[in-house]
Amino acid sequence: MKRSLFYLLILILVFTMVPLSGYADDTGNPGDHAFDNRVIKQIDIDRIYEHVSYLSETIGPRVAGTDAELETVDYLVEEFESYGYEDVEIQPFDTLGFTSYNVIATKEPNNRNQDSGQKLIVGAHHDSVPGSPGANDNASGTGALLELARVMANAPVDTEIQFIAFGAEERGLVGSRYYAENMSEDEVESTVGMFQLDMIGSADAGDLTMFTVDGNQNTVTDLAASAGARVSHNDIPPFSMLGRSDHVPFYERGIPAALFIHTPLEPWYHSPEDTIEKISTEKLEDVTKIVGAAVYHAARPSTPALERSEIAPEPVDYYYEDPEL
Ligand SMILES: [Zn+2]
Repeated sequence: MKRSLFYLLILILVFTMVPLSGYADDTGNPGDHAFDNRVIKQIDIDRIYEHVSYLSETIGPRVAGTDAELETVDYLVEEFESYGYEDVEIQPFDTLGFTSYNVIATKEPNNRNQDSGQKLIVGAHHDSVPGSPGANDNASGTGALLELARVMANAPVDTEIQFIAFGAEERGLVGSRYYAENMSEDEVESTVGMFQLDMIGSADAGDLTMFTVDGNQNTVTDLAASAGARVSHNDIPPFSMLGRSDHVPFYERGIPAALFIHTPLEPWYHSPEDTIEKISTEKLEDVTKIVGAAVYHAARPSTPALERSEIAPEPVDYYYEDPEL
C-alpha cells in the first residue's frame, strides 16, 4: 500500500512536471511554443559557431571563382549530406570569366500523403569579398542555413523547403539571379516565400531588421514577426526597405522575399576585421530561431483543428523603420 502510494506520487509528479519544464522559459501563452519547439529546441549554437569558424578561419576569404570557393562548396555538400539530404545539387554558372556555384539541399514533404504543392526557400550567400574572412558576411548566415537544414531534416512538413547557399553574391547577386531566372513559371507560382540570411551575427551591428525590396510587408515578414513574438527575447523585428542581397531576384519574379540582417551595419563590414571574435552567439542564435520558427510554421502539416485553437500562432503588429545602414 505504501509502496503503490509512493509510485502514484512519482507518477503525478512526472506528469505535472513535463509540461512545466517544457515551457519553463516561456513568456505568455504556454501553448505558443508547442509547434516551434519541434525545431527551435534542437538549434545548437555551438554547431553554428563551428560552421562560422570553419568558413572564416579554416578556409578564410571565400572569393567567388577561387579555390577557396571550391573548398566551401565541398564543405557545404558534406554537411548537407551528413544530415541525410540526398541528391544535394551543385548548380554551376558562369560569370565575369569564371565559374561559381550554388549549393542546394531539398527537403521534400514527408508527411504521408500530405503535400501542399508549395515550396519555401531559405537562402544565404557563401562567398565573401577579397581580403575579408567574412565571419559575419556571410559565414553567419551560411552557418544558420546549415543548422536549419539539420534540425528540419526529420521534421514533418507538407511543404517543400529548399536550403540554398548562393555563390557570387558579392559580385552582384549572380548566383541568386541565375537560380531565380531559371525557375519555371510553375515553380515561381508554387514558391510562397524566400528568407535570406545575410550578416546575422555581428556583436557591433544594430538590431534585426527585415528588409523587403519594395518596403512593404509580405508573407515572409508576417511569418517572421509572429515567430519573433513567440521565440525571441528581443523586440519583434521591424521591417524596412532595401535590396542589396539575394532576396532581390526572387522579389523580381514576384515571390514574397525578405532579407534578415542587423542594422546599422558594423564598422568591420567588408574589411579584414570581419572576424569570428566579433560574432555574437546570442544574436546568431536569436535570428536562427526566429527564421526557423517562421519557416516551420509555414511548412508543417496543416492541422485545421489546432489552427482554430488557442495554440495557433497569432498575427502580430510590427512596424516600418526607416533604413539605417
Ligand atoms: Zn553579404
